[in-house]
Amino acid sequence: SILPIIRAQTQASPGYVPDSKFYKVEAILRPWRVPQVSSALLKMGIRGVTVSDVRGFGAQGGSTERQGGSEFSEDNFVAKIKMEIVVSKDQVEAVIDKIIREARTGEIGDGKIFLVPVSDVIRVRTGERGEQAERMAGGRADTSVPA
Ligand code: ATP
Ligand code: GLN
Repeated sequence: SILPIIRAQTQASPGYVPDSKFYKVEAILRPWRVPQVSSALLKMGIRGVTVSDVRGFGAQGGSTERQGGSEFSEDNFVAKIKMEIVVSKDQVEAVIDKIIREARTGEIGDGKIFLVPVSDVIRVRTGERGEQAERMAGGRADTSVPA
């Protein structure tokens, strides 16, 4: 049986995450919290971030969120920002902790973070791949900040 193998893997922490060199931290957040989040990420040496305007619903469903009518559209989807940050494995937990610390209000609608394994990074300008492409000027290699 393969069960003991599965057990051994799930006990390794955090074994339920498929192992990968790079991960995408995909965070769905309150728009008004994004400037705080991004400046905190910048301080820890994170330079590559992509944001999109998105709309969604979660636990708050069709109910109004505390901070106002402007976030609540007619079709019950709430305006959010999706932040996508690709980092090397050893930066994942620090990035997630930072996002939670800066984005959390404790109220319904704070958002959610998805962690996605990324199989490669390719810099279009240079054709670099892997670690070289993931590395950013002003990032971990250029600072003593353990990001
Ligand atoms: P170059 O040195 O050629 O400018 P670069 O690595 O600095 O390469 P850009 O070409 O400036 O990357 O990046 C283009 C866009 O890709 C950015 O505006 C950002 O949206 C996105 N991006 C880059 N790196 C990341 C990353 N690590 N995670 C998420 N998004 C990223
Ligand atoms: N890991 C990269 C670095 O330390 C930064 C990655 C990012 O900015 N998303 O240079």
